[in-house]
Amino acid sequence: MSKNEDKMEKIVSLAKRRGFIYQGSEIYGGLAGIYDFGPRGVELLNNIKQAWWNANVYDKENYFGIDSGMFKHPKVWEASGHIGGFSDPLAECKECNARIRVDKELAKVGVTADEKMSEEEINKLFDENRNNISCPKCGKKNFTEAKAFNLLVKSNLGDFTSDGEEPVYLPGEACQGIYLNFKNIVDTMQPKIPFGIAQIGKAFRNEISPRSFLFRTRELEQADTQYFVRPDENKEAYEKIKQDRWDWYKSIGIKEENLRWKQHENLVFYAKDAWDIEYNFPSLGFDELEGIHDRTDYDLTQHMEFSGQDLRYFDQEKNEKYIPWILETSVGLGRLFLAVISDAYHEDEMDGETRVVLKLDPKLAPIKVAVFPLLKNKPELVAKAQEVYKMIKKEIPQTSFDDNGNIGKRYRRQDEIGTPKCVTIDFDTLEDNTVTVRHRDTGEQERVVIDELISILK
Ligand code: ATP
Repeated sequence: MSKNEDKMEKIVSLAKRRGFIYQGSEIYGGLAGIYDFGPRGVELLNNIKQAWWNANVYDKENYFGIDSGMFKHPKVWEASGHIGGFSDPLAECKECNARIRVDKELAKVGVTADEKMSEEEINKLFDENRNNISCPKCGKKNFTEAKAFNLLVKSNLGDFTSDGEEPVYLPGEACQGIYLNFKNIVDTMQPKIPFGIAQIGKAFRNEISPRSFLFRTRELEQADTQYFVRPDENKEAYEKIKQDRWDWYKSIGIKEENLRWKQHENLVFYAKDAWDIEYNFPSLGFDELEGIHDRTDYDLTQHMEFSGQDLRYFDQEKNEKYIPWILETSVGLGRLFLAVISDAYHEDEMDGETRVVLKLDPKLAPIKVAVFPLLKNKPELVAKAQEVYKMIKKEIPQTSFDDNGNIGKRYRRQDEIGTPKCVTIDFDTLEDNTVTVRHRDTGEQERVVIDELISILK
């Protein structure tokens, strides 16, 4: 097993063991491509979302946050091109019926293919490379031809006849909610162009082979921004946005050596430019984390045509009406969560033992402070520790109390979930009102007066 695969196994196991991520419907044997966030996971996820929201709404000029309904008018997915073209090339193994996504299998053998190619184009490439592609399940090389498989998930919302003629789809991508509210934002917030709309929303995709833990799931969450600019005033803004997104990853503690840019070779017909930020994922290597796309006026033009509504923007400065161009950023929060944990995962030696530690940026850590009484069976220590715990919790809500096992074990547990500081109450505390503060990354300990504790921890 390579080091990178080994790391993935360790992360999956830590995520389960420490209450970050559970397999969806686990007691029924699981449901492929669905995961649940446990108590530590939901805190980390919320912190990631908050960091993203801070950077993309609060710290920006002229960006508006929204949260649109998941279900949308059936015409939305026609206008967006999802009904006609949101598909992946699927082939089936004739020996064991396993399904493969042909573009991804081709990529593994160094052949560039993607979902934008026609069935014919992809089959040509597939046929040329069949000898190099084995079934991941049985190892044989006997596949059907590739067929385009639509990824949209249908629902029967509001359909009481069950004829399913015009199904309401679950969102294939979250960003459509932004386009649908473009006119509302213009009418109610009167933004001056250029301006942005930001949203975090769920999406559902009938992925052919969900895999690699949170990397490819069937239910996912996307954090998107759409920046509306004057036609042809896209270039400079696009470069700025690219830089801004790169810098944001660094600001949440992702190591730059694990990030890289990849430009799309095969652009969809309407796009001007498209880049991905890739992350060096465990077991996968570099793969897409976030897409940053220059989409021209395509999305609003499509919705204008299909809805019959005027979605042009009146530019007072220019005294002109036009359809703005859109610069999009879209990151999957599951992939980001995996990147954050993977980047923070370290094994080192401490006190003569190997320890596992998540060196999370403190703003992302699910628990900020853990408070311990040195001994569990000394009521006076426990009472004092409880008092200190309650005092800290008032100021820092993500504080936990732990009196399980010996102090060494408690430190290890907190290291594994990335708690930046541990506070221990011992017999000296009762005498001089000082406590020990232990720092996660170095294991260093310092003695601190309780009165100064909050300001030091903060
Ligand atoms: P891929 O080529 O890997 O299927 P994509 O190009 O279809 O991804 P987009 O439609 O651009 O992805 O979606 C934007 C972001 O949403 C991606 O960069 C990724 O982070 C995330 N994403 C897309 N599909 C999934 C999925 N099935 N599971 C988890 N995250 C996903």
